[in-house]
Amino acid sequence: MECLSTADAATCTACRLSQNRTRVVLPDGPRGGLLAIGEAPGRQEDAQGVGFVGIAGRNLDAALADCGLSRDQWARSNIVRCRPPDNRKPRADEVSACAGWLDQTLQAWRPRVILAVGQSAAERLMPAWQGSYLDTVARLLADDGVPPVYGGVPVVPMPHTSPLAWNRRRPDGTPIRDIGMQAVRHAVALAQSAT
Ligand code: SF4
Repeated sequence: MECLSTADAATCTACRLSQNRTRVVLPDGPRGGLLAIGEAPGRQEDAQGVGFVGIAGRNLDAALADCGLSRDQWARSNIVRCRPPDNRKPRADEVSACAGWLDQTLQAWRPRVILAVGQSAAERLMPAWQGSYLDTVARLLADDGVPPVYGGVPVVPMPHTSPLAWNRRRPDGTPIRDIGMQAVRHAVALAQSAT
């Protein structure tokens, strides 16, 4: 896939997700710092053409603000740039079709750390992990500091920030939000330690 310009990106028809989208949601935010990568645009993102503006995005916004980063201090992208119908998970061929755009984003943004928001993003960025996603996130955080890398950039995985995921507890009673906040703190620390 050839990725050339913003105009190309805004009119991409490389996969079936182009058929139902309202707008392509392009990456935005400052370069060279923390880049949050989610699964896909949702309804509000699709309508506005802006990433992470729905409830899940606002939850992430609040989590990062709690750790000292306002919205203008972190960047946003997704593993696919167009909204899947009915918010279904992106299919493998759609993720593959959008891979060139994601790699172009990473080359242009040159983040110091990637925050992988939710399992779909983590599957794309750290495909070697196996087993339970939340177990993997907790283990990586407990290991404290040797994150997987994608394209030479450290990847910190975290739970999805949709209310359904963010407000639940693990079987042992641990709030998933607490694991998410631990991941966000770790990612912010990595971003700032590299300055
Ligand atoms: S999801 Fe990605 S590859 Fe598919 S049409 Fe949208 S921009 Fe193009």
